Amino acid sequence: KAKADGRNAARAFETAMDAALAERRLLEADLRHALVRDELMLHYQPQVRSACGRLVGFEALVRWSHPSRGLVPPGAFIPLAEETGLIVPLGEWVLRAACREAAGWAHPLKVAVNLSPRQFQQADLPERVRAILAETGLPPERLEIEITETVIINDMARALTVLRRLKALGIGIAMDDFGTGYSSLATLQAFPFDKIKIDRSFVSQLEQRPSAAVIVRAVLGLGRSLGIGVVAEGVETDGQMRFLAEEGCEEMQGYLFGKPQPVERLAGLIARDAAWLRDAGENRMIAA
Ligand code: C2E
Ligand code: MG
Ligand code: MG
Ligand code: MG
Repeated sequence: KAKADGRNAARAFETAMDAALAERRLLEADLRHALVRDELMLHYQPQVRSACGRLVGFEALVRWSHPSRGLVPPGAFIPLAEETGLIVPLGEWVLRAACREAAGWAHPLKVAVNLSPRQFQQADLPERVRAILAETGLPPERLEIEITETVIINDMARALTVLRRLKALGIGIAMDDFGTGYSSLATLQAFPFDKIKIDRSFVSQLEQRPSAAVIVRAVLGLGRSLGIGVVAEGVETDGQMRFLAEEGCEEMQGYLFGKPQPVERLAGLIARDAAWLRDAGENRMIAA
């Protein structure tokens, strides 16, 4: 009986593996076509200044509008793209689209673009970025690249060279999902980061777990002492916002301020932000 059960379990496992593999191949074939068929798009999530709530910029987040599956989130295809190497053309598409769209905004807000480890391994990455900036006309100081700790850990010496060359273009570099990997204080100090993004997992636990608050406070202190800006990601509640603002976190991003949205919505958001500033200016003059 036990033997038969074991055989059945093994067979069920194999069937599940086959199904997963077949599903993966299907998705991979579709992903190859997605670029050619223009099925990818960017959604943009607001990043705001804590002190006044005004826009600093937007993070570009890729979406795949699949003909039969609907809107596919990046978690479902970026890892596959990374494994197959498709991330290189895909990532280049993202960078070009983000720069082109940002160049058209009514105000010179920043645009943040995620870069995967494999993209980072391209020897000519800085030249590619430079070419895209030139082609789209986006001033380099408006572009910020987000990389995770994985990118650096693989090959520290190479990563440092590439980051320096990217910085020399005049763009900003942010460390994404900070706290989830293995970066040390030494890494942060050695690399030319302009920003640290505190991972959402810590922010979301702020009100439940004292240890999350300790970590967030420590990262904010780290940023202050190294002179690196800190952004909190995944801010969803007033309580989280208040804690972060009181602890001196200068920028925030999260559903509380806005979900990632299609590019059509941005013009309205940007106009509202500008109007808010104008009104604030007039109010100040009335008060004076
Ligand atoms: P990320 O770079 O850390 O981006 C933030 C993710 O957190 C986004 O998920 C965003 O929608 C989500 N998020 C932001 N605020 C909140 C919040 O308040 N609550 C909750 N529950 N979630 C929030 P998304 O768009 O699904 O992207 C997931 C990840 O996929 C990104 O994490 C990034 O690592 C990767 N990714 C997205 N676009 C690209 C891309 O163009 N290239 C590369 N290489 N990776 C990308
Ligand atoms: Mg990011
Ligand atoms: Mg992040
Ligand atoms: Mg994250």
